[in-house]
Amino acid sequence: MNRRKFLDKSYLGLTTILVAPEATFNLRNKGNIHISKNPNIYAISTWNVPEANMKAGKVLENGFSAIEAAVKGVAYEESNLLNTTVGMGGAPDRDGIVSLDACVMNHTGNCGAVLAVENITHVAALAKEVMEKTPHVILAGKGARQFALEQGYTPENLLTEQSKKAWKKWLKNGNYKPEINVENHDTIGMICFDSSGNLSGACTTSGLAYKMSGRVGDSPIIGSGLYIDNNVGGAVATGLGEEVIKTVGSFLIVELMRNGLSPQKACEEAVSRILEKQKGKPNFQVAYLATNKNGEIGAYSIQKGFSYSFYKNKVNKNIPSNSAYK
Ligand code: ASP
Repeated sequence: MNRRKFLDKSYLGLTTILVAPEATFNLRNKGNIHISKNPNIYAISTWNVPEANMKAGKVLENGFSAIEAAVKGVAYEESNLLNTTVGMGGAPDRDGIVSLDACVMNHTGNCGAVLAVENITHVAALAKEVMEKTPHVILAGKGARQFALEQGYTPENLLTEQSKKAWKKWLKNGNYKPEINVENHDTIGMICFDSSGNLSGACTTSGLAYKMSGRVGDSPIIGSGLYIDNNVGGAVATGLGEEVIKTVGSFLIVELMRNGLSPQKACEEAVSRILEKQKGKPNFQVAYLATNKNGEIGAYSIQKGFSYSFYKNKVNKNIPSNSAYK
């Protein structure tokens, strides 16, 4: 047999092995979960955000879609001046400028995102407009702001006196270190399940406090901060966005659920993918929250202190999550 024929034969043999029908791992399966029955409507959000989560729950109860509920729910935190990691009142970058990031994804797999937007409070709603009214998925910076103005959004000063004071203190105090869970990580990632049995989500943040100008984290990146597959489930992330992006956390979780993992196990595996690249205990937080089409929910974080909000049957609960480090 000449070399060419040998290579052809070996290649064919190899192909046969790779696509053998007995292969159990079906990359295109519709989700390896048995959907027993449609659960009742529910909303879940990262962190203890009762008002936002209840707002979403009420919108769902009024018969609106999951995407409407998610955008209206997170809007509460975008307006909440006490939340220094989302919307108006969010911590600025090193130059004292507040810039916001957000994305949305609906049950059809359509999505929209805005990155590094200044002067606009309701960036999740704006991301939804990008999804619905433009041929694009992402608008960034000046273009996103311009689009917002064209849609009738009023430009606002997002830097509150309190955030300005904290930033000035940070400027003076060169050795500032962000505190895990408390100061820097309250991004709201929300997933809603509506009465038509559809899942959608939204994720909105001001990003890391005192970030470099132009820095964008995971939150507005589809697949990192948020991912929805209406056949399988959805996932959202919070914490140090750079580490979530490197492992495409939310997409990973949904794919793991597609192949049979529970939301809890999928979140744990996504955290492990980050930890296996670290030497010892990292000094940052990453947390995931996920749900599947059976209404099962999972959450897991690197550091202790993460919790999520869960609204169902008119009741909102804050549920503490397990973590890799106690
Ligand atoms: N994930 C956000 C970011 O990296 C931060 C956060 O969760 O608060 O921008």
